[in-house]
Amino acid sequence: IAKRRGKNTYCYFDKAISDRVMEQMELQSELKQAIEAEEFQVYYQPLLGMKTNQINGFEALIRWNHSDKGLIEPAEFLPIAEKSGLIVPIGEYVFREAFLQLKQWMENGYPSIDISINLSVRQFKDDNFLDMIDQLIDEIKVDPTHIIFEITEEIAKHDIEYAISVMERLSEYGIRFTMDKFGRGYSSMYYLKELSIQKLKIDKSFIDTMMDSRHDKKLVEAIIKLAHVLELEVIAEGIETMEQAKFLSEVECDKVQGFLYSKPLPRSDANKLLSMWEDLTNQERDVNTDAN
Ligand code: C2E
Ligand code: MG
Ligand code: MG
Repeated sequence: IAKRRGKNTYCYFDKAISDRVMEQMELQSELKQAIEAEEFQVYYQPLLGMKTNQINGFEALIRWNHSDKGLIEPAEFLPIAEKSGLIVPIGEYVFREAFLQLKQWMENGYPSIDISINLSVRQFKDDNFLDMIDQLIDEIKVDPTHIIFEITEEIAKHDIEYAISVMERLSEYGIRFTMDKFGRGYSSMYYLKELSIQKLKIDKSFIDTMMDSRHDKKLVEAIIKLAHVLELEVIAEGIETMEQAKFLSEVECDKVQGFLYSKPLPRSDANKLLSMWEDLTNQERDVNTDAN
C-alpha cells in the first residue's frame, strides 16, 4: 500500500508540474500574439517632489489587457517574457508609447515632466538596444534629457564593463539613470561606485516595514543620507499612508511615489490627474501668496 501511495503521490506531483509547464507554454504563445493584437498598454504612476508637492514625472508600467483573462500584472508575465526574449519587442512598444507621451506633455505645456522607464537585463543586453533607442529618439523627436531609465543591479552583475559602456553612450544623449529596488540586492555599494547613476529608489520592502521598526526607519534615513552625500536624488516608492509620507519628509527624501498619491493610471487618466494637480497646486500657491 505504501508503495502504491508513494507512486500515486509521485504521479500527483508530476501532473502538477506538467500543468504548470503547459500553463507557461500557453502564456508564452499568447504573449507572442498579444504583441500583434495590441493587447499591451502602458500605465503611468506619478512621482512627486516631497517639498513642492508637484508632479515631476511619471513611471511607465506595462499592463497586459488579455482578451479573456482581463488585466494581467507584470509579475505574472514578465518572467516569461524575459526568458523567451519577448521582452525585447514588448519593451520596444513601451519605449515608443512612453516617448510619444513625453512629447505630448512637452507640447501641451508641461516642459519639465520626466518619464521613467524600466529596463530588464535581456533588453539591456540586446545587440540592437542602442540602435533602437537612437532610432526612436530620432523618429519621435523627443527631448532625451527628460528620459530616465530605471535599472537594477542585475544589469551590472552580468557584465559591468558592458553596462558602463552602454550607459555612457546613453548618457551622451542626456538620458539619466535611477538605481531601482535599492537595498534589495547584496552588492549595491559596488554598483553605486562603478555606474554613473543620478537617482536611487529605495525598495518598497523598506517602506512597507519602516513604520513598525525603529531599525528600518534608521536604515531608510541612512540610505537617504548616503545618497545625498553622493549627490544622488532619492525616491521612495510604495507609499500608502500619511505616516510614511510624514516620516519620509522629516528625513528629507526628495521624491515620493505610491498609492497614497495615485495608482498607475492609463494615459488619459494620468493626463487628467496631471492637469487637475497643476491647477490645485497653483491655486494653493495663489492663496498662500495672497495671505502673505
Ligand atoms: P518597479 O519598477 O519597482 O515598479 C514599482 C511597482 O510597485 C509597480 O508594480 C507599481 O504598480 C507598484 N506600486 C507603486 N506604488 C505602490 C504602492 O503604494 N503599493 C503597492 N502595493 N504597490 C505599488 P507593477 O506595475 O506591477 O510592476 C512590477 C515590476 O515589473 C516593476 O517594478 C518593474 O520591475 C517591472 N516592470 C513594469 N513595467 C515594466 C516595463 O515596461 N519594462 C520592464 N522591463 N519591466 C517592467
Ligand atoms: Mg521601476
Ligand atoms: Mg521600483
